[in-house]
Amino acid sequence: MARLVTKALIILLVGISAAHAQVLEPIRYTLRFPAPHTHYVEVEAAIPTGGRPQVEVYMATWTPGSYLIREYERHVEAVTASVGARSLGVEKSTKNRWRITTGGAANVTLRYKVYGREMTVRNNWVESSFAMINGAPTFLTLVERAARPHEVRIESAPAWKSVQTALAPIAGSRNAFRAEDFDTIIDSPIVIGNPVTREFTVDGKKHVVVFEGDTAFIDADRAVADVQKIVHAGKDVMGSLPYPHYYFITMVTEASGALEHKNSYLGMTGRYATRSRGAYMGWLGTLAHEYFHAWNVKRLRPIELGPFDYENENYVKTLWVAEGFTDYYADILPRRAAISTRDEFLDGLSSQIEQVQVTPGRLVTPVNMASFDTWIKQYRPDENTANTTVNYYPKGAVIAFLLDAKIRKATNGTRTLDTGMQWAMQRYSGDKGYTPAQFYTVMSEAAGVDLKDWFARTAESTEELDYTEALEFYGLRFSPVDPKTAPPFIGGGTRNDNGRLVITAVRRGTPGLDAGLNVDDEILAIDDVRVRADGLGARLAQYRPGDKISVLVARRDRLMKIDVTLGADPGRPWRLEQAPDATDEQKARFETLMNGR
Ligand SMILES: [Zn+2]
Repeated sequence: MARLVTKALIILLVGISAAHAQVLEPIRYTLRFPAPHTHYVEVEAAIPTGGRPQVEVYMATWTPGSYLIREYERHVEAVTASVGARSLGVEKSTKNRWRITTGGAANVTLRYKVYGREMTVRNNWVESSFAMINGAPTFLTLVERAARPHEVRIESAPAWKSVQTALAPIAGSRNAFRAEDFDTIIDSPIVIGNPVTREFTVDGKKHVVVFEGDTAFIDADRAVADVQKIVHAGKDVMGSLPYPHYYFITMVTEASGALEHKNSYLGMTGRYATRSRGAYMGWLGTLAHEYFHAWNVKRLRPIELGPFDYENENYVKTLWVAEGFTDYYADILPRRAAISTRDEFLDGLSSQIEQVQVTPGRLVTPVNMASFDTWIKQYRPDENTANTTVNYYPKGAVIAFLLDAKIRKATNGTRTLDTGMQWAMQRYSGDKGYTPAQFYTVMSEAAGVDLKDWFARTAESTEELDYTEALEFYGLRFSPVDPKTAPPFIGGGTRNDNGRLVITAVRRGTPGLDAGLNVDDEILAIDDVRVRADGLGARLAQYRPGDKISVLVARRDRLMKIDVTLGADPGRPWRLEQAPDATDEQKARFETLMNGR
């Protein structure tokens, strides 16, 4: 009680109304699935009102980690409120808010239904065999700034045997959970059904690997053995495990995508994810990425990412750290866990560099502004995206690679990027958050040299990245490409649209753009000879770079001929390999990068 009084005084002092100070009673939700085959979850919420005549509730419009306004409230229906048998007035006040007239009741019961049939990490899915519930599209909460507990009790459909979530169970219950605040319930997906689960313990902390969906082909034993190695590799990088327990939740649903949470991650994969090397390493790489977020972004975070405004865009300029550095470690962890090979690691790194270097938009938008504009660009790509912006995932990963080499070189290998990340974690995790300048400072301290100007060039300008230092340090080079053997090319992309050869992208700096080919043009013939939908490459192979060809296209059904002077395919000049003259010392440095210390 004494603590409560103190808290009330503090809240009063910071200017929040006295009513808020007293209303730390939880909101208590019950989720029911009376007809899961209809894809609905029914929600009942006991809402404390603090005796106010009116309260307003809202649904989040986006999910942290996935930076786009998603308008979850469109799946909410049949919102009613009552006290006992007495109905209360409920009025929709904005697209995602409802105002309840309480009549002075201390507690009101809010009921509504939510449609869930979107197999993405943001939304809900309810069907006869399982339910996947995410917080943002499910829980209406009070419009207030208090850190109010949120409790949820699950009434499973009869066929479902278990509930999997990183939420803390209420003592003695297997289906009731407590979140200390709204952020926590938003951040804790819940899967209810009959999943395959495996558990292991590291540092006394429970780790649960969960597969739900079509699990018949999933090799859970192989998976859990490797996940355990990833956990150890993560701990070696960051020094300790930052969570009370962790849930790795995979929906085996032929969908894709994954999202980080503080004490769990939720992802989707195909039923054969553990059957082939490529699919398995893809699944494990994604898992390593989301798992590394338990440190980088869920705890060590940009200052703008908390407290969240769940109804508006939250602008942030350092997602290249939050996502890109995480992507760098997503390649490092499986290698240090001795799961991926040296070649797979080099291939992953090469792919990150290649993605940056073939994107014309890297010369238009600095990566910090690509981060800022994520709300309008990253999650809404169109045919011109690559021309105007750069993806902060690969560019951030490449900056991490360059920075790691810089720190190692400057400190004679006594410190690494791991050191910088540990120091940043110690200084800025939790409620603090870092500004870009603070992040640059901590990394400069790890390197023992001022890197402010280097960060300004790499992250805040469109200057080309300089690979010289890192490649020299590790004894690497880009595999030479012989320009004399380059095949002819137009540039851009095409798709086979039911037998029609349709242009999907025209990139800057390519013959196609210069000649005036447009996205959605259907290519019919080259030099008056028909081109089939799958025959463009074979046809172009009949020509040489510099040849002029006449391309017959249909543009909105109007036929036209466009002359194109073929260029030389740049090939893949961004594939890393060991330099033939690499010294033992250089080779040893690269081995150290891949193996940890
Ligand atoms: Zn991520």
